[in-house]
Amino acid sequence: MKAVQFTAPGTEPVVVDIPQPEPGPGEVLLRMTAAGVCHSDIAVMDGIAAEMGMRLPLTLGHEGAGTVARLGDGVAGFEVGEPVAVYGPWGCGACAKCAEGRENYCLRAAELGIQPPGLGAPGAIAEYMIVDDVRHLVPLGDLDPVRTVPLTDAGLTPYHAIKRSLPKLVPGSTAVVLGVGGLGHVAVQMLRSLTAARVIALDVTEEKLELARRVGAHEVLLSDGEAAARIADLTGGRGAEAVFDFAGVQPTVDIAGRVAMVEGDITIVGIGGGVLPVGFGLVPYEASVTAPYWGTRGELIEVLDLARSGGVEVHVETFPLDEAPEAYRRLRAGTVNGRAVILPNG
Ligand code: NAD
Ligand code: ZN
Ligand code: ZN
Repeated sequence: MKAVQFTAPGTEPVVVDIPQPEPGPGEVLLRMTAAGVCHSDIAVMDGIAAEMGMRLPLTLGHEGAGTVARLGDGVAGFEVGEPVAVYGPWGCGACAKCAEGRENYCLRAAELGIQPPGLGAPGAIAEYMIVDDVRHLVPLGDLDPVRTVPLTDAGLTPYHAIKRSLPKLVPGSTAVVLGVGGLGHVAVQMLRSLTAARVIALDVTEEKLELARRVGAHEVLLSDGEAAARIADLTGGRGAEAVFDFAGVQPTVDIAGRVAMVEGDITIVGIGGGVLPVGFGLVPYEASVTAPYWGTRGELIEVLDLARSGGVEVHVETFPLDEAPEAYRRLRAGTVNGRAVILPNG
């Protein structure tokens, strides 16, 4: 089968031919319909793979949707042909966090060597993929797999982040979204459909700001040296109840620290290496700063239900599997609007 792999540091991903995997006991083989391209893959190729000792070659893709192709021995509860999405942050299934569906914070994943697909285990940008347990499948029903697949990360991750701040996002409040890419353009929509907050979105190009406006941002701003002062003006000097940073680079983290209000929430989702010093006088009084990872199984089910009710619609640009390397080039260049989605089976 064809798969898109990262083979060596300093190289671009390549399309390769590898044997089609067989599902072992308890596993499920999926025929992939769609797989999303996340900026984290670029960070993986630029260094995280080496830092975390991921084995190469690595089949990329941690946002996957497909149909059940074969069930391993002992698997029940899904039928061959059933359309499903993959819950990516795989855990052990048994620890206290996993028991609550919070497999993204599994207490034993590192010790047991459990890695998410595309982030250590073979990923979703391939004609077929193995899912280690039916626990990690969510039925898609009649949702369009191509428009839905990014919700498994670009939807789930912002949803988890926003949920923490919902009590603060009352009418009259402000939410700031830094970076309106794959995750950010979904975050803007979730803030609109789940809260009454005014949403201010920032990015570095007019195209991204245009998308932000289209998906519901009340105000859009170029993310430059003036941005923090403009946000202060827009909020009457108070700042924002919640700031979500979907770039996580130094310039956005700096803005996040300056535009949050007293007792505000600062959530750094992007993994761009930006650092926000926290200490008395360095962030607004009693601001809370967090850097979350992905989301829970229960939240993924909620996100898909939000999509069913029309509360979120991912803007996708599709690529055949052979053009996945070009999708990564475009993502790196910042010219993907919304989410790039690979169609592994055409
Ligand atoms: P993306 O490339 O689609 O979007 C990033 C956006 O940030 C782009 O629109 C880009 O123009 C914008 N940007 C870059 N510099 C900026 C600046 N100085 N000011 C404002 N905007 C700026 O990437 P994505 O796939 O949406 O991922 C976003 C980030 O979140 C990445 O760092 C990714 O690795 C990370 N991520 C983290 C998690 C997690 O669990 N914490 C999950 C998924 C992705
Ligand atoms: Zn991701
Ligand atoms: Zn666990």
